[in-house]
Amino acid sequence: MKLAIFDDHRLGAVLADDQTIVDLTGGVPWPHDPDPLGAGWWVRLCRDFDQLRPRLEAAVADGPRQPLGSVRLRPPVLNPTKIIACAVNYAEHVDEMRDAVLPRVSGKVQAWMLDFDVFLKAPSSIVGPEDSILLPAGPTVDGKEIHHEAELTLVVSRGGASIAEADALDHVLGYTIGLDITVRGEGDRSRRKSYDTFTPLGPWLTTRDEVPDPHALAVELSIDGEIRQRANTADMTVRIPGIIAYASSVMRLEPGDAILTGAPQGVGQIHDGEVIHTTITRLGEMRLPVRRET
Ligand code: MN
Repeated sequence: MKLAIFDDHRLGAVLADDQTIVDLTGGVPWPHDPDPLGAGWWVRLCRDFDQLRPRLEAAVADGPRQPLGSVRLRPPVLNPTKIIACAVNYAEHVDEMRDAVLPRVSGKVQAWMLDFDVFLKAPSSIVGPEDSILLPAGPTVDGKEIHHEAELTLVVSRGGASIAEADALDHVLGYTIGLDITVRGEGDRSRRKSYDTFTPLGPWLTTRDEVPDPHALAVELSIDGEIRQRANTADMTVRIPGIIAYASSVMRLEPGDAILTGAPQGVGQIHDGEVIHTTITRLGEMRLPVRRET
């Protein structure tokens, strides 16, 4: 199932044609709350999706349909308690950071910068597939490079702490495309990656059953027709079970949390006026305009 949040935070399913959306809001057993701060219904849906699935499938069959183009798609997450992101999870990205990016943007390379780890991005940085990426004035004025990082992203179903690798995929509701927009340079990752609009997610959430092998997905990002990142999730250094086990050994995962699994090689600058096109196998595509904050 391809779960979407649209218009005033209604729940939808995108059909196989990727052009039709069915309104599932009536199939959710809790009253609809259009206020995004009233996101409890979504968190419960993430947690209890397996039990709700028959109801939702019935709603897919019976619910009102409309062209996807007639609705506004929102990010396919709602008020997650946190966004976790992985640093340094593709070998070729390590090479480019060590040999080119870090010497250029911070003038030095320290060993920890090239080690796998997880960090937090502010949930307020999330935007959806029909939004824009805003280049913040401060870093732009300071001449900082602002980079794209296209990343396979998962959304947590049941939460948990210290989740075993063997059980990890049972905690995945599904997958979506994520961008980890980043100000390069010195300073804490969480600050450099948490500016408003720096975490585009979408276009919808493809449930885990429709992604039988999340480590066989092509990730591709192009800008104005030029390929920048082209990779396969087969090349992740720490795979999803390892990511979930490690992250949950640090902080309890809650239903609806998002985890970005790390950038493949090819990261580079984005500029005012460009359009960033990102695709991941089975997950759809997003076209995001870049604008300068005014
Ligand atoms: Mn990243």
